[in-house]
Amino acid sequence: MIKFLDLNSQYHQIKRDIDLAIEQVISESAFIGGEFVDAFETSFAEFQKAQFCVGVANGTDALEIAIEALALPSNSEIIVPANSFIASAEAVTRSGHKVVFCDANQEDYTINIADLKRRLTSRTAAIVAVHLYGHPCDMDAVMDTAQERGLKVIEDCAQAHGAEYKGRRVGAIGDIGCFSFYPGKNLGGYGDGGAIVTNDEKLAEKCRMIANHGRKAKYDHEFEGRNSRLDGLQAAILKVKLNHLEAWTERRIQIANQYLEQLSNSSGIRLPVRKEWARQVYHLFVIRTKCRGELSAALSSKGIQTGVHYPIALPKLNAFRYLAQGDEHMFANESGDTLLSLPIGEHLSDEDVALVTAAVKEFFD
Ligand SMILES: *Cc1c(COP(=O)(O)O)cnc(C)c1O
Repeated sequence: MIKFLDLNSQYHQIKRDIDLAIEQVISESAFIGGEFVDAFETSFAEFQKAQFCVGVANGTDALEIAIEALALPSNSEIIVPANSFIASAEAVTRSGHKVVFCDANQEDYTINIADLKRRLTSRTAAIVAVHLYGHPCDMDAVMDTAQERGLKVIEDCAQAHGAEYKGRRVGAIGDIGCFSFYPGKNLGGYGDGGAIVTNDEKLAEKCRMIANHGRKAKYDHEFEGRNSRLDGLQAAILKVKLNHLEAWTERRIQIANQYLEQLSNSSGIRLPVRKEWARQVYHLFVIRTKCRGELSAALSSKGIQTGVHYPIALPKLNAFRYLAQGDEHMFANESGDTLLSLPIGEHLSDEDVALVTAAVKEFFD
């Protein structure tokens, strides 16, 4: 069996440290806030090379809180790529703004800059740059566009812990970066978790207050906020796992390189392209094929698990039908039937990867 994700085998690699960390949090009753959360925030800011990090309850909240903290005029238009997880767009509408979807590019699946520019209007206030599948967006182009038009840039880094654009870690290239620590992410907790990073001290402070009932001190509330906190257990677990993230990421990159090399001559599939300026961290390794259903069934019959990210483009979801952007002729609206995610992660051996590529090649022969 070649698993798509194997959190159990990962736990057994680091069991002693994880169990110890959990025990410490419990014996100190440091469940909400406190030293474990502070220590993780400091380490994660360092890891992403950002000045500030605010832990929150999950990645969706991170996006919502970031957008709220930017205090954009209400009912602003915010541009979101059509190929992403729903949270990238939900955070916009939940914050009282309007989503304008734009296309993805056909090589690395991140935001299509030409299409982004076509979607700008006088109401546009921000761009959500999603570093999809762990591949950074073309941030120079995003930032140039934003600066020209006075737009804010929110980086959705939920799939991109440790990813780099021209040697710079994602998250603090734009105004604010949002991370998810959902268990299956490149850095995942044992439950929900998320974080916001930024180099803007005021913005970090505002996010921290929004996430904690608008307060600075206990029972002294400056404004109405909400409750969205990273808890002590998750923070302690994440801090242990953060020590391994570089090695796990390097292994993901190695596996991706093996896929790219071993499948380079396969007809019938399109491989993802990694731009020369990218450190892609391969949250997912996504190929495209017209026979997606048949190929995934063939792999499954050999015990190889695959996934689809995402089968339905955001504009075509029932949830966003009211926006009437689902019939637009764009790559992202049409590629959903062809995407297939091959297994990737530190749980796979070189032999596993060779089995996957052999099975793919055999299918097309
Ligand atoms: C996972 C994910 C999110 C949301 O994170 P949660 O922690 O599950 O709320 C947002 N954006 C993208 C691109 C994601 O993959």
